[in-house]
Amino acid sequence: MESESLLQPEERVLSTLEADGSRRWMFPRLSRGRWWQRRRVFAYALIAFFLLLPWVRLNGQPLLFLDILHRKFHVFGFTFLPTDTVLLAILVLMCFVSVFFFTAVFGRVFCGWVCPHSVYLEFVYRPIERWFTGKKGVGGPPKRNVAGWRKLAMYAVFLLISLYLANTFVSYFVGMENLIRWVFTSPPWRHPVAVGVVLVCTAWIMWDMAFWREQLCIVGCPYGRFQSVMLDRQSLIVTYDPQRGEPRGKPRRSTKGDVELPVLGDCIDCSMCVAVCPTGIDIRDGLQMECINCTQCIDACDDVMDRVDRPRGLIRYSAQAKSDGEPFRFLRPRVILYPVALLILGTLFTVVLLNKPATDLTVLRGMGRPFSVMSDGRVENQLRIKIVNRTEAPRQYAIAVHTVQGGDALPQEQVDADIIALKPSEMTTVPLRLFVDPAKYTAGRLDAVVTVTDDEGTAVNETVVLRGPARLNTKNPSDNAKGVNGTNTNEASEGKVTP
Ligand code: SF4
Ligand code: SF4
Repeated sequence: MESESLLQPEERVLSTLEADGSRRWMFPRLSRGRWWQRRRVFAYALIAFFLLLPWVRLNGQPLLFLDILHRKFHVFGFTFLPTDTVLLAILVLMCFVSVFFFTAVFGRVFCGWVCPHSVYLEFVYRPIERWFTGKKGVGGPPKRNVAGWRKLAMYAVFLLISLYLANTFVSYFVGMENLIRWVFTSPPWRHPVAVGVVLVCTAWIMWDMAFWREQLCIVGCPYGRFQSVMLDRQSLIVTYDPQRGEPRGKPRRSTKGDVELPVLGDCIDCSMCVAVCPTGIDIRDGLQMECINCTQCIDACDDVMDRVDRPRGLIRYSAQAKSDGEPFRFLRPRVILYPVALLILGTLFTVVLLNKPATDLTVLRGMGRPFSVMSDGRVENQLRIKIVNRTEAPRQYAIAVHTVQGGDALPQEQVDADIIALKPSEMTTVPLRLFVDPAKYTAGRLDAVVTVTDDEGTAVNETVVLRGPARLNTKNPSDNAKGVNGTNTNEASEGKVTP
């Protein structure tokens, strides 16, 4: 009675939603056609890549190690450090442009072929579920009365796999050696963060693979929405050919013999393409946001076409324009502009990467007041010198500061040792105090150059502006220090700083 009073939708709102708002669970049938065979090979190659990569080393370094703890990323033989912001910016831009380009040409090929969610769900978790629920190799709804122990065993296997995947994921950030040591030789409470991340990842994978499933593609994934708006009518998508398929209908027999009535198209309305769809849509309704280009409907329909002795390809990879009878144009502005942009960015990235100096130097001002005037009249500036050893060998560094006009080094005092020793890819920040004759200042400002020289004699420079009193008492220089000895030193000095 209550449901009758509700406004009823004219058609299904969401493929995974029943009319009463409850979830429509998906148990797609399996079509083991040629596209599925290809996807399976590709998927297992991707899984092997993900599982094996943390074990592979190149020149003593892991092939891919995102060492967040030490702020170093080892990527295929290159080491990226926090100072590589330009490289990072170019890389992010390249990722965006690549997504635009691949989507424009191949549509949502990422979703069906590469996305970890699809790969693990369709080629790891779903096959295991089919095995435990008695639908191995064919799919469809589970057999009725699946024994409780079978379900329990299935979830236990899910948990073990999820745990292993989560550990592998964490190994990309902590290193495989550390992970093995933590797992096998030290108690979990010694490294609570890593254990916490593993548990959260395991829980997320379990939730996604056992429960959330196609909902992630339909309502949860922003990538699907981005991809859908980046398609155009010439992009490659999985599409149904209505010119050939319509009017659809079951083959009927003529009363005068076994002759098929000629008015029907090739679609026999068997709904196999819907039964195999992991997101529960009907591809014959046209391009839909829910379609993840998994190609299962192509395989299912090809199989049906073989059986009814019709040519394959009623559902196929094609462009929307082509299916609507319009000419197909592969070359269009975006297909030319995106690769050009990628080429420029790639060249820029390579040039910046190959010309990175052996030492990164950043000069920062000290915390607090810009300068102080000492009791002997000299002006003190505090700096922080950040040095990064980008080489694969240990290095020693010495720091010197000159005015930009040259001359003697400015008197300095490092809080730590005079010589700084750094391991490969190590970074340090050295506090430095400079004591300068106030006569060197002009209107409260002195331009200086910080030079860091390594033990191979290679030097890097960075300019810095030193601050001092804007007006000097030249008749009685000791008065310059009065602000320091007074009660309001900072305000007295800082008020005169020329910005
Ligand atoms: S599988 Fe092919 S023939 Fe069957 S309903 Fe789908 S499009 Fe029509
Ligand atoms: S419509 Fe076809 S390609 Fe798209 S998700 Fe469904 S089965 Fe996969």
